[in-house]
Amino acid sequence: MNAKIDPWSSTNILNYSKLFEDFGIMPFDSMYSRIDNPHRLMRRKVIFGHRSYEYVLDAMQNNEPFAVMSGFMPSGRIHLGHKMVMEEIIWHQQKGADAFVGIADREAHAVRGISWEKCREIGINEYIISLIALGFEPSGHIYFQSRSENVKDLSFELGSKVNFSELSAIYGFTGETSVSHMVSAVTQSADILQPQLEKYGGPKPTVIPVGADQDPHIRLTRGLGHKMNMFKIEGREDKDGNRYFSIRSKAAPQEALEELNSIIPGNTKLFEGHLDVFEVDNFEKLLKTVRDVELRYGGYAFVPPAATYHRFMSGLQGGKMSSSIPESHIALLEDPKDAAKKVKRAKTGGRISLEEQKKMGGEPDKCSVYELLLFHLIEDDVELLQIREECITGQRMCGSCKNLAAERMEKFLKDHQEKREIARERLDEYYL
Ligand code: SF4
Repeated sequence: MNAKIDPWSSTNILNYSKLFEDFGIMPFDSMYSRIDNPHRLMRRKVIFGHRSYEYVLDAMQNNEPFAVMSGFMPSGRIHLGHKMVMEEIIWHQQKGADAFVGIADREAHAVRGISWEKCREIGINEYIISLIALGFEPSGHIYFQSRSENVKDLSFELGSKVNFSELSAIYGFTGETSVSHMVSAVTQSADILQPQLEKYGGPKPTVIPVGADQDPHIRLTRGLGHKMNMFKIEGREDKDGNRYFSIRSKAAPQEALEELNSIIPGNTKLFEGHLDVFEVDNFEKLLKTVRDVELRYGGYAFVPPAATYHRFMSGLQGGKMSSSIPESHIALLEDPKDAAKKVKRAKTGGRISLEEQKKMGGEPDKCSVYELLLFHLIEDDVELLQIREECITGQRMCGSCKNLAAERMEKFLKDHQEKREIARERLDEYYL
């Protein structure tokens, strides 16, 4: 590992391709062509990478169970960056996912020192009401970490599979890091694995839509899921070059291996602690059989969680978007007229003079107004593309983009805030 990504500091990661090399995140391009009606953020490559998303897509397309999960730390105002993740959750819910949203109050309490009461207030008033207003359906699950016995129990168990050195290697924890901060890291792993508990139908592909800075959690959790499982399946080759699979017991009783030996058809050979299976023509079927037996013997049989990774929005004034700098972001609860004014003051990719802009064209890729249109305010790809073309060719001036973005932002916020009032009335449907 050449670099660390810290999920607790808002790092603007400029070189996304480095993530492919350093961390093994796969480009999302290869998934895109298989998706029916891809989300705006997928079409526009805002979602740029993934891990194991192919399993989620397979389940989606074959009407098999799958889940989507993400969490929000109740530590400040809900803004457009959070809206992006909420939209991804809701899109997957509409595609058939069992949807989970965790309010990470344990993390907010441990890392930011926010009281439990304040966490609950911010969690409901800022995040949950907007989530419902954006279209999250009551068939999904919204919960607070501190009130979820599943999550607390599972995090304790996961904690037994990871030590301080491993957490430090991932997060850069030091001797000064509090134990609760470390507990909040494994609590998030429990959040991610919760959809696969028996209570929710057992193991299934689960996608976690996150910003690239959250990848440490994903890697930690994939590793923990693997460590919790009773079996490990390894592909092997004998001395004659014939390939076979070896099902290794990590924590399974010998009877579980014996049961596998009796139900797996064809050529098998049982040893103490492992079972070799030859001439396998359907690996997925073998995997399912092993998972079913593990569940019968009280294991979890977790499927490694999948993830999608999105780019970050930059701040309205350029540079990083920061929750603590109001001028850098638009909060979903701010006055729509004030937000429109902020948009008009935002940094653009325009040139110093109109003459120069006409001659050289603008730079939409360096423009925070264009970014607002691309991420949030224009649904129609053709309309967006036309603005881009006009900008690059010098036919468009920044004033018209600012007016358009300001007008749409004002309308969106007004509309969203009205929907929030209806959502507030519906809170009971979500069993908080
Ligand atoms: Fe940005 Fe529009 Fe100006 Fe181009 S014309 S730099 S897209 S504001």
